[in-house]
Order: sequence, then structure tokens, then C-alpha cells
Amino acid sequence: MNKVYLDNAATSALRPEVIQEMTRVLTQEYGNPSSTHSSGRSAKNTLELARKSIAKNLNATAQEIIFTSGGTEGNNWILRSAVLDLKITRIITSKIEHHAVLYAVLALQNEFKIQVDFVNLQADGTVDLTHLVELLGQERKTLVSLMHVNNEIGSILDLHRVGVICQEHSALFHTDAVQSVGKLALDLSQLPIDFLVASAHKFHGPKGVGFAYIRKNSGLQPLFFGGEQEKGLRAGTEALHQIAGMAHALTLSYDSLIEDEQHIKLLKSYLLKSLEDSFPGIRVNGPADGLHTVVNILLPFPESKTVMILFHLDMKGIAVSRGSACQSGSIKPSHVLAEILSGEDLKKPSLRVSLSQYNTKEDIDLFVQALQAI
Ligand code: PMP
Repeated sequence: MNKVYLDNAATSALRPEVIQEMTRVLTQEYGNPSSTHSSGRSAKNTLELARKSIAKNLNATAQEIIFTSGGTEGNNWILRSAVLDLKITRIITSKIEHHAVLYAVLALQNEFKIQVDFVNLQADGTVDLTHLVELLGQERKTLVSLMHVNNEIGSILDLHRVGVICQEHSALFHTDAVQSVGKLALDLSQLPIDFLVASAHKFHGPKGVGFAYIRKNSGLQPLFFGGEQEKGLRAGTEALHQIAGMAHALTLSYDSLIEDEQHIKLLKSYLLKSLEDSFPGIRVNGPADGLHTVVNILLPFPESKTVMILFHLDMKGIAVSRGSACQSGSIKPSHVLAEILSGEDLKKPSLRVSLSQYNTKEDIDLFVQALQAI
């Protein structure tokens, strides 16, 4: 195990209270929520309480929250059903979406010959909304899929603005909010979003569970068929202990949002200052107003050295990740970003440090010292 864990955008440690809640459900709530006997009804109650608490945290209604196995399923489901059931013939997205969106879109393009357009990116890696408006001018049944917070550089999309632009052009709007839910306050009653996807393991909940926000009367259809437990939209017995753990994790995250943010912002400033002191002129990728938890550092080495650096850091007990955790496939979001951010020099690698409320200044010191030693 790494003694210094700075890879919270990849996944995050379970909160002890979440483990307690999951243990309670595992040991006491073994009924199937679809059964009508007392054990079933009790499980159903736990399930619906979880749904209500998630909805409350995001100011949505409970019936708009559908449990899934995580971000990958949620994104794939929505994009696929948008084409199959909502008759979307065009998707506008960006080349720096997570693979769970990008490769789902490319697969749909291949299978159904839908039109796919990529919105331009600006020099700091943010989405060019003027170009989005230009693209939306065409007469096609369109879905826009743009992530809320980018997993590599932490840039934040203005959800309200994009939602309004989509409404003005009668386009549907889907956002992958896996990196923001639990870290940024969201009021879904005020945001013109049709579909939003979240994943519990990014906000100190369990792995393999998430939820999708599906706006009422969206017309979306299920991806899986069977017992239609999830409001007729997702079949199969729910992962009750994970769902209860996720709901608890989300409430705890939002309860301590302000103090966690203050703590993490201080750590981020401390990290940036320590880096600048130790490596004068070192560059950080992405916009200055990106998410407080993410720092993407441009390394003054050839890309071939990245694995070695990660290995050395790991040997010293420090977990960080390369600028992008996912490198395979025909479009590589990290390469697209590298091209935009570092101009002509495509080969410059980057390290992503992603912080949580559990990190300390000592973690930062150990990381910077280790980087210096390398
Ligand atoms: N979208 C983004 C932005 C992510 O960071 C991730 C996790 N790496 C996913 C989707 C996939 O989520 P999950 O791990 O729950 O399938």
C-alpha cells in the first residue's frame, strides 16, 4: 500500500462511516427489494432512502435517480439509448472526454452511422462554446455530451451555459459528472441538463456502483432487460449495500464540502509553491480555475521516462498517476490535450496529482522530495 496516496481522481479511500453502513446493510438487509415480505420491504425502504438522499443532495426528484454499476455503464447506457430510442442522429462531444464516453460514441458511429462532431478546444484545454453554438446550427436531432470536470486537468464546464445553449437549439444535453459529484455543489432543479452520470468510488464510496440522473419523461429505455427493478429503466437486483454506502458517502461529502474544499485548496497552493521553489519554471497544465483537487504537472522529461518516474515514486510509497490513466484506442484524450497544452511539443509527459481531504502537507513534502531525488 502507498503511504502517500495522491491519486484520488482515479479512485478514493472509503470513508469509515461508509464501511459501517455497508456492513449494516450486508448483515441486516439481505431481502430482495422486489420481495413483498418484511425483509424485502425493509430492503426496499433502504433502497428508496438512498435514492431520496442522493436526490436531495443534488436537488433532483427521487424518481430521476437510477442506480447503475458506475460511470462506464451510465455513460454507455445514455448514449446508446439516445441513438436507439430517442432517434438521435448526431452527437457533439469533445476529443478529451473520458473513454467511457468517447469510445461509446465512436462505437455508435460505427454501428449506426450517426454523425459525430468534435467541439474545438481552447489553448488551456477548455471547450470552445462559440464553436459549440456554430456546430449546433445544423438541422439534426442532436445530443451534446460534454464532461463537467475533466479527469486529467480538472477544467470545469459551465453546465448552466451549455444547458441553455442546448435548449436554444433543441439538443439534448448529457454530462459525465463522475469527477465533480461530491466535490462541487450541484442544483439539478436549476440546471438544464437531461442526463448526468456519477460514480461512487470517486467520492469515497464503494467501487462498482453509481447513479444516473435521467430527467423526467426523457423517453430513455433500458440497456438490460429482466426484472425491471430500477423504475423500469434498469433490470436486475440492486447492489443494495453498495447503493446504501454510496448514498451515505455522498451525504458526508456534501456535509463537509466547504471545509474539505478549504483544506484541499490550501494543500494545492502549498503544492504549487513547493513545486515552483524546487523546480523553478515548472509548468502546470490546464486552466487556473480548475477543480481544487487536481494538479497536472508538465514534466521536463521525454515521455519515455514517465513510467520510470511513476515507478520510482511508487517505490518511495507515493501514488500519483500519469496525466492520463487511459492511453489505448484510436483517439487518445491525453495526446489531444498534450498537443493543445504544450503546442508543438507533443511528447512532453505529465503527472496528475489528485488530492482529497485525507491528504496532509507532509504528503506534499514527501512527494516533492521524491520528485527532486528523481
Ligand atoms: N468518467 C470519468 C470522467 C472518469 O474519471 C471515470 C473513472 N476513471 C469514469 C467515467 C468511469 O467510471 P467508473 O470507474 O465508475 O466506471
